[in-house]
Amino acid sequence: MEVSIVIPTYNEADNVRLIAERISRVLSGEIISYEILFIDDSIDNTPAILEKLSHRIPQVKYRHREGEKGLASAVVAGFSQAQGSCIIVMDADLQHPPELIPLILKRLATADIVIPSRFITGGSDGGLNGFRKLVSWTARTIGRISFTRLRDISDCTGGYFGLNRSVITATKLNPIGWKILMEVLIKGHYRTVHEIPYSFAARDAGESKMSLREQWNYLRHVARLVRSSPEDRRFYAFCLVGFLGVFVNLLALSLLLSFFPLSQFAASVAASFIAMTHNFFWNDRVTWKERQYPVLWHRVLQFPQFMLVCGLGIAITALFARLFLSLGWNIYLGQLAGISVSTSWGFIANNRWTWSASGRQIDSQNVKLVVTQEYAGKIS
Ligand code: UDP
Ligand code: MG
Repeated sequence: MEVSIVIPTYNEADNVRLIAERISRVLSGEIISYEILFIDDSIDNTPAILEKLSHRIPQVKYRHREGEKGLASAVVAGFSQAQGSCIIVMDADLQHPPELIPLILKRLATADIVIPSRFITGGSDGGLNGFRKLVSWTARTIGRISFTRLRDISDCTGGYFGLNRSVITATKLNPIGWKILMEVLIKGHYRTVHEIPYSFAARDAGESKMSLREQWNYLRHVARLVRSSPEDRRFYAFCLVGFLGVFVNLLALSLLLSFFPLSQFAASVAASFIAMTHNFFWNDRVTWKERQYPVLWHRVLQFPQFMLVCGLGIAITALFARLFLSLGWNIYLGQLAGISVSTSWGFIANNRWTWSASGRQIDSQNVKLVVTQEYAGKIS
């Protein structure tokens, strides 16, 4: 089997026949073996129609899941049942034009994942109303801010995509809600993504199953994915360690002043040093745990690097404070601006230098991702 087309369905009685026929028509001219695999959670008469359809069109197969619901989990069930070396996922309601399938397959010969996109030149999301466009934009923006791997991908939350099976074979997919593509993009093993433009059509028949609950599920899914993605979890862990470090600093200061005969200035410097040690320890154990050096002396050498980065961070904050003061602006705002910039500096410098992964095969996500897009046959 060369291609499996996985289609999740929930109450799509009016659409399944149309989509199966349209796919058959599109692929009738191609010399490939394929299957159309419906994963159906319907509570209407869709299963009965699928049963009839599977007798009439030999490529149609279906699996009905009793009592289960969830678009993304249906697609995961489809992945495990699919026989093809390439898999295409699409909706049943004809919003995703099957006429694009031959091009998706052609591009899958050179790219690991192919995404038809509504948001590159030549594409359109005209099938959505204004409110749905806003919801969709918000979801996409949250995704692209939260995950480094999604930054260059214009349509990372759509339900239409193709992939080579190798992308998901060694991966445990565990999505919540609808966004199966995002799950694949964060957890899958791949190097190249290619986007092709398409027009998202209006729904043919039946009604959309999107609901407020699914927006909430989306946020839960993002949070779960961030936790499972080292490169994205790191920044939040770094901020949390830094935040805790402030309290360690203050606690150390008060203990030093209470129990040691130190000047206030000396106690302040010592407290900062203790906080820095605390931050180094937790960053090494948690933030960059995948990159921790097994040999202790190497970690001892990392400590002065970390201190240098922190020192420059303090200098950056001081620079902002100075700038704001000289402009006659509020010093607290200056300090906050300085802290934001120095936090970003600290994260980037430690990520690239102190806990650099270069030369070490430790981060599977570290592979450079190549995203290409095309318009009217031109690939950039
Ligand atoms: N779907 C599904 N399970 C669900 C919800 C939706 O299998 O719990 C299917 C639905 O039948 C359709 C696709 O997922 O084939 C996309 O759903 P819908 O068209 O309602 O979403 P929209 O296009 O409005 O975002
Ligand atoms: Mg739809």
